Amino acid sequence: MSNDWLPYGWHWLDDDDIAAVTKILRHGHLTQGETIAEFEQAVAAFCGAKYAIAVANGTAALHCAAFAAGVGPGDEAITSPITFAATANCIAYQGGRPVFADIDPSTRNIALDEIERRITKNTRAILPVHFAGRCCDMPAIAAIAQEHDLVVIEDAAHAIGSEYSDHGKIRRVGECIHSAMVVLSFHPVKHITTGEGGIILTNDDALYERLLLCRSHGITKDKKRLQKNEGPWYYEMQALGYNYRLTDFQCALGLSQLKKLPGFIERRAEIVRRYNAAFGEIESLITPHLPASRTAWHLYVLEFDLARLDCDRRRIFEELRERKLGVQVHYIPVHLQPYYRETFGARAGDYPNAERYYERAISLPLYPRMSDGDVERVMATVIEVVKRHRK
Ligand SMILES: *Cc1c(COP(=O)(O)O)cnc(C)c1O
Repeated sequence: MSNDWLPYGWHWLDDDDIAAVTKILRHGHLTQGETIAEFEQAVAAFCGAKYAIAVANGTAALHCAAFAAGVGPGDEAITSPITFAATANCIAYQGGRPVFADIDPSTRNIALDEIERRITKNTRAILPVHFAGRCCDMPAIAAIAQEHDLVVIEDAAHAIGSEYSDHGKIRRVGECIHSAMVVLSFHPVKHITTGEGGIILTNDDALYERLLLCRSHGITKDKKRLQKNEGPWYYEMQALGYNYRLTDFQCALGLSQLKKLPGFIERRAEIVRRYNAAFGEIESLITPHLPASRTAWHLYVLEFDLARLDCDRRRIFEELRERKLGVQVHYIPVHLQPYYRETFGARAGDYPNAERYYERAISLPLYPRMSDGDVERVMATVIEVVKRHRK
């Protein structure tokens, strides 16, 4: 990567991260060893959950969660159109039907009344996404789920370390108080990385057993769970699972990264505060709303009020890229993807808030390794481009 190109996200690795990995490469099991359980326990403790199950990536984590929840053909599950495709795909993997509910433009998260509007007799689950790190209203979502007997799976790929207020009590994302399972991703653009990797958190013993089966071919060697026992070699395949395991050297990297997570979150929050202070003054820019609770910001998305500008979002985007800002768009609404249109019959206009958001959103560089000079360059460049296009 050239020196002056600022990507929208980038990982942070130090010598101690590399040493942690090489230690396992030299001395440990490469896979199915004890570093996996160590990482799982550390993440479970950080998030406040009873169990953590490490898997190959966040998408596999979502798939295992849908599997464990028993989502199957004929079932519907409700999620946000403003997410990565994997959130909806995990329902389709299980033969279920992903159903979208429009966002609340002020939080960019799934709107509560839109969830309620989409519930049918076939609805089985809700998958709220804590977009950019900002928490959904989990107590309210849990109340809807309870009323309609639905399973809640939180997609917290953006939100490890975020907190929210529950009637005055501070809750951590991952405590699984208002959901059955919480899913994390450790892709390098996320808060901490294992290269590829993901985790499912739960407090439920039965779900934990199902998640273990999903991760490893549906096979168990656990004597308490075997239907019979033919000898010391004996194992049983009790479900159609997958090979979604994470390696020990990836978990060693995860353990090392986890120590740095509080510092990463603090630096991300500091950059977000500076961006909001600079962009909040400009009429044509709509900044993310900062909640009172601690937020582990994954993305910084600016919306451009196109009525006040003489061009569209694409022009702004291209001019920012020309000035070496590696901006991105998160996300193209999932219901508009060809696969979703063709398979589930979604159409443009179905989710007006999500579609309006998409037309005017650009993600700016946000990662802890940015220097103060990088942050200032982003602010000055965005302001310069916007002023040139003022009506
Ligand atoms: C990154 C991400 C995923 C998938 O995670 P991978 O580890 O890349 O498979 C799922 N949902 C959201 C919202 C994400 O941002």
